[in-house]
Amino acid sequence: MMDELITILIAPPATPAAVLLWAVIGLMMGSFLNVVIHRLPVMMQRESDNYVAAENDQPPVHTERYNLLLPRSACPVCHHPLSAVENIPLLSFLWLRGRCRHCKTPIPSRYPIVELCTAALTALVAWRMGTQTLGLASLVMLWFLIAMSCIDLDTQILPDDLTLPLLWLGLLFNLHGGFVPLQDAVIGAAAGYLSLWLVYWLFRFATGKEGIGYGDFKLLAALGAWLGWVMLPLIVLLSSAIGALVGLLLIALRGHARDKPIPFGPFLAMAGLVALLAGDAIIAFYLSKLT
Ligand SMILES: [Zn+2]
Repeated sequence: MMDELITILIAPPATPAAVLLWAVIGLMMGSFLNVVIHRLPVMMQRESDNYVAAENDQPPVHTERYNLLLPRSACPVCHHPLSAVENIPLLSFLWLRGRCRHCKTPIPSRYPIVELCTAALTALVAWRMGTQTLGLASLVMLWFLIAMSCIDLDTQILPDDLTLPLLWLGLLFNLHGGFVPLQDAVIGAAAGYLSLWLVYWLFRFATGKEGIGYGDFKLLAALGAWLGWVMLPLIVLLSSAIGALVGLLLIALRGHARDKPIPFGPFLAMAGLVALLAGDAIIAFYLSKLT
């Protein structure tokens, strides 16, 4: 049974059964990503509060344990701890009809949405990239991108705790040419960072405002480390195009203030995903039109 499951999970190329199984794994991963998205910014805030306190010779502000595993998930309103059944992704939400079992407070619909999106994208990546080393590495990259996009939407911050490990993982994976030769990966990381850094300073020089953040440089550096410098122009073009489109839509539909910054991380992440799945095909198509 276990052997059979493992064979289906990593069989090349991805069979429909494998894609379905990975969708279920994606659902569970989405459930974990919800925890990361919710807790990582809180963990960073607590760490920074304690650092400031220590610098001022004050006792730490936060002493109780708080990480990705502890304390156990609970309803934020009535603090009733979630049982194993209530932790089942998606199904528990449907079963509880989107409300806490005890106090009936509505559960935000974004939890099942993140789970569903993670499941769908996990299945898509497993289908496109297969489920061998390359496909599994692609999934790791995907899960990082989902967590970062949601945190950026929530807090306008791309945490170093995610961007930097993603960068290192990309370089390590390409050590023996996973996606691209190591040389392309190292140049990709440096060029990715520098190109947005340059845009940042040009924009700041021209308008006196900050258009993008340092987290965006690090995310593009990480994408360069994974996919190589060849993909950078495509990623920058795609993310700007998607960003401009969404920005215009938001202004038109919801009267989004023009000056209010829109987080750029999710667009970079989306463009990175497109480059991962179809970058080679897009570039080949473009080059074929040139000649
Ligand atoms: Zn409750």
